[in-house]
Amino acid sequence: MIELPAGQVAAGHLPHVCPRHGEPAIEMKRMRLVSKPPPWAAVLIVLGGIVYAIVVMVLRKTVQAAAFPWCAQCKAARSRNLGIGFGVLALGLLLIVGGIATIDGDAGPMLFLLGLVVLIVGIVVASRSNFQVISGAYVSQDGQRVELTKVDPRFTHALQYGRV
Ligand SMILES: [Zn+2]
Repeated sequence: MIELPAGQVAAGHLPHVCPRHGEPAIEMKRMRLVSKPPPWAAVLIVLGGIVYAIVVMVLRKTVQAAAFPWCAQCKAARSRNLGIGFGVLALGLLLIVGGIATIDGDAGPMLFLLGLVVLIVGIVVASRSNFQVISGAYVSQDGQRVELTKVDPRFTHALQYGRV
């Protein structure tokens, strides 16, 4: 993992190299980066999802990156996750509709439940197409730095030798 000052990321002073894949950037994207929920916040889930959601939102630090490197592999990963996610989602909906149509039969309720599970899997996969999830860049808990969780050596090299 490497850390960059939040100001540098916000200003877009980054090499035109994808941090995650090390490939040349095809685009420098405006990207809203946020921090991960602090690990201790998970205990709040017992108080209810809404309490957790509020606390996480209040504590969330945001960095608006003016120009974040985005490469061909990032793009491919995004469309793949979106495609699979929505495909699975559609299948889930189909199962739910099928389940409701045959709810009086033996298989109907099972189809309905299966449809719900498939729907959730679809949502999870589709959410993995998020720009930030693909970049693996997260704002630190104090909001001062941006942490890159998966870094290709080519990005580190470009950063060190100033091809910014
Ligand atoms: Zn990439």
